[in-house]
Order: sequence, then C-alpha cells, then structure tokens
Amino acid sequence: MVPYSPITKEIIHHIKETVGSDSVIQDPHKVREYGQDAGEYIHSPDLVVDATRADQVQALLRLANHYHFPVTPRGLGTGVAGGSVPLRGGVVLSLTGMNRIISIERNNLIATVEPGVINLDLKNAVQSEGLFYPPDPASLDTCSIGGNAATNAGGPSCVKYGTTRDYVLGIDVVLPSGEKIDVGVQTRKGVVGYDLLHLLIGSEGTLGIITKLILKLIPLPEATTTLVAFFPQLTEAMDAVTSVLIHGYVPSAIEFLDRRCLELIGDLLPFNGAGKTGAFLLVETDGISTVIDREIEAIGNICMTNGALNVMLAPDSQKRNRMWQIRREVALRIEHNSPVYVPEDVVVPISRIAEFVSYLPEFERRHGIKIYSFGHAGDGNIHLNITAEDETQKQRLEEGIEKILVRVLSMGGTISGEHGIGIAKKQYLPLELSPESIRLQKEIKRIFDPHHILNPGKIFDMDV
Ligand SMILES: Cc1cc2nc3c(=O)[nH]c(=O)nc-3n(C[C@H](O)[C@H](O)[C@H](O)COP(=O)(O)OP(=O)(O)OC[C@H]3O[C@@H](n4cnc5c(N)ncnc54)[C@H](O)[C@@H]3O)c2cc1C
Repeated sequence: MVPYSPITKEIIHHIKETVGSDSVIQDPHKVREYGQDAGEYIHSPDLVVDATRADQVQALLRLANHYHFPVTPRGLGTGVAGGSVPLRGGVVLSLTGMNRIISIERNNLIATVEPGVINLDLKNAVQSEGLFYPPDPASLDTCSIGGNAATNAGGPSCVKYGTTRDYVLGIDVVLPSGEKIDVGVQTRKGVVGYDLLHLLIGSEGTLGIITKLILKLIPLPEATTTLVAFFPQLTEAMDAVTSVLIHGYVPSAIEFLDRRCLELIGDLLPFNGAGKTGAFLLVETDGISTVIDREIEAIGNICMTNGALNVMLAPDSQKRNRMWQIRREVALRIEHNSPVYVPEDVVVPISRIAEFVSYLPEFERRHGIKIYSFGHAGDGNIHLNITAEDETQKQRLEEGIEKILVRVLSMGGTISGEHGIGIAKKQYLPLELSPESIRLQKEIKRIFDPHHILNPGKIFDMDV
C-alpha cells in the first residue's frame, strides 16, 4: 500500500491558504458525515474541502501531489459501492457547492452544468423549456450529475434512452496533477483523437474530477402512458418482456418485481390476492399520444398472450405515480426487513432473462440465502438483493454471490450494470476482466495519477 502523508497542521494551513478557510470543514462531527455513502463502508476523512470553483479543485490537487495525501471526490454520497468513501483518509472533496445550471441552449439542445447539480433539478429546468434529459437513476432527487457521470448512472429509461454516457458531450476535468483540460465536444458528433471522454465517464472519480459538463438534451415527449401486468411466474413475465422487444416496441421503461418483493409490498397493490401473483411488470411508453395509446394496447395483449393474470392501464398521472410508488418502495422494505443484505446489480442478455431468474431458487437452496429480485427487465439489468438471516451466514452468502456472478458471466452477462465497482465489488473484478485487461487499466491509472493521490483503493488496488 502506498504510504500517504498524514494531514498535518502545515498541510491544513496550506489548504486553507489556497482554497480559502470558508471552504474547509474541520468539525469532527461534520467531517464524519463524509465517511460513508449509501453502502456499508465507513472511513472518516481527516478534512473536507467544499469546493465552489474549479480553481479550488486544481489548487487542492496540486497540494495533494506535493505533500502526497489522498483526495476522494464526492457528489451527494448516494453511491452504494463505497466509491466516495475515503478509504485511506485524507481529504474528501465535496462538489455539491458547484451546483449551477450554467446555461440551457434550446436551439442547440444542450445544457451546461456544474457537477453538483441534482439530477431532478436539471430535469425540471430543461422540462420548462420543452426539453428532456433522460437519465433517471432511482435516486434522481438526491444524486448529482457529476456523480452520475462518474458512475455512468442509468435507470428505468435506459431501455429506450441509454445511460448517462449517452448524454455527456463534453466535460471539464481536473487531472490529479491539478491541470484542467476539456474533453469531448459541444456538438452532436466528434471523433478527434482518442476518446478520453468515455474513458473518464464511469471511471468513479479515480482518473480526474469533473468540474463542468455539457449535456445533450432531446425534445420532451408529448405524452406518457403506463400499464402494469401481473403474472403467475417470473419466467412468464420475462418471456413477455422479450416478446415485447422482439415485436419492435421500445418502451421507455420495463420494470419488474418478483414474488418475494410482491409479498413485501402487498398492501400497496391495487387488488386483493397478491398471493397468486408471482411477478409484476410495469411498462411505460412515451411519445405522440395517438401512437403510444396503440402501443400500450398491443403490449398489454402481448402480456396476456404470455400468461398474464391481469393487465391494468394507468393512463393518468395519479395512477402512474401509484404504480411507480410500488416499484420504488420495494428497495426500502427489503433493506428494512433483512438483517444481512447485499445489493448486486447484474445484467444478462435480454433473451436469457427468464432462464437466469429460473436458476435463482437453486442458489437460494444451496447457499441458504433469500433473493429478492427486481429491476430493469427491459435491459436485462436485474437488482438481486441477496439476504441472510444473520451475520453468521455471511460467508455462505458471499459464496452464493460469487456462484451467481459466475453464472451471469457464463450467460454472456456482466457483474455490474449501474452501481460501479467502488470498494464493494473489486474482489469480483477478476471474474469478468482478464489479467491483461486489468494490467492495462492499472497502466492507464498510473498515467493519469502517477502518485496515486486520487480516490485510492477503488475499482482495483494498485500494486506499487
Ligand atoms: C435509493 C438509491 C437508488 C439508486 N438507484 C440507482 C439507479 O437506479 N441507477 C444508478 O445508476 N445508480 C443508482 N443509485 C446509486 C447512486 O445514486 C448513483 O451511483 C449516483 O450516480 C451517485 O451520485 P452521487 O452524486 O451521490 O455520487 P457519490 O455517491 O458522491 O459518488 C459516486 C462516485 O462518483 C465519484 N464522483 C462524484 N462526483 C464526482 C465528480 N464531480 N468528479 C469525479 N468523480 C466524482 C465519487 O468519487 C464516487 O466514486 C442509487 C442509490 C440509492 C441510494
């Protein structure tokens, strides 16, 4: 492990001198709040710098290089993989104070924003101009655009609109050396040089700190309509999903809940008899009203043909919100009800979703675990919430997780669709990436960050 300098009085003095005392948080109670994200890892930083300008970020990183202390960038701390947890102490660099929407250019369909802007605030701001910013992680009202870019966040709308990466045209980034560069373009296309933009998006704050983003917008869809379908078995629901997609429909969301999830939120269902229901599918389409009305009807028919017990339309916003509440509430209840809980977020090819979920009971039996699955059926992204009764089961649970990930990979899937690797999944990285690929990625890290000062201990450990 790289030995870092402790944060001495001299270093604190220099940090205050260069970034300004007002931007430095030293109160131990407040500092501790920056030692955890929404996941399970905790490590307090020594100091927090709450930046409001890019030049402060540059100054801090120059000092970090000079004195050799670690800096961990942080948006709003909603990550679940420990990405913003300062594993080696040092300074947490909070970007939430850089939260201006700099401009919305209606004629160019772009927005320029600082990284601390909350996703939902941007959505609302562009919506009032008749525009749409699609990326929609479930945490959209509490997470930052900078954090979204650093993790390449996605959400239900991915099935139609893609992930954050598809909407970032360019960024300003402060490199670990303290130099600031802009990468990418302000145009819809651009192929000049290596694609550093897409290397930095999703790099989890390990290669540079994003201080400005130029985002692509699209026209706001005229209307949205939603249906929910209830199936006796999850495999039937997943067959329906594949069938919807291969019939050429591209819904703006296809979300599912399995039987265990339904048991937890039975009180919210709009009918009695949740016991007979093995799966819940929520399908949404957006676009021109007359077109989506026809589409949703056809999708309902496909669900019935694939064995749905019931299909209910939720055309007005009140009913839609109720359906989405069911989908959103489930994660909270799983966490609340499970003494030991590990969220995994795998992706399998869409044609194999039904096959994959059919293996889950076998894993439950073999490893003494309980799996709640829900997520984005339309892009094969399944949130597996793997739980055990108590801490003594932890080892069996971890063995079970590894076996499940191996199965996912053997089916042509990937071990993480949204939440990044951070600390939580780095032990599993070699399951998916070859030693050559990991070596190359470490070389890239070395080029960007030769002194290993930026967000150490994330994605992989550097051998130095
Ligand atoms: C209830 C809940 C639901 C969620 N649902 C989803 C979902 O549907 N889809 C999804 O993708 N994720 C989801 N997440 C995870 C999380 O919200 C996302 O990863 C989000 O993008 C993190 O944003 P943040 O501002 O909270 O970043 P943080 O958690 O603060 O940081 C995340 C990572 O980004 C880095 N980082 C942050 N800002 C910058 C910056 N400006 N420059 C460089 N690096 C930076 C950090 O170092 C860290 O590695 C969910 C989390 C919760 C708690």
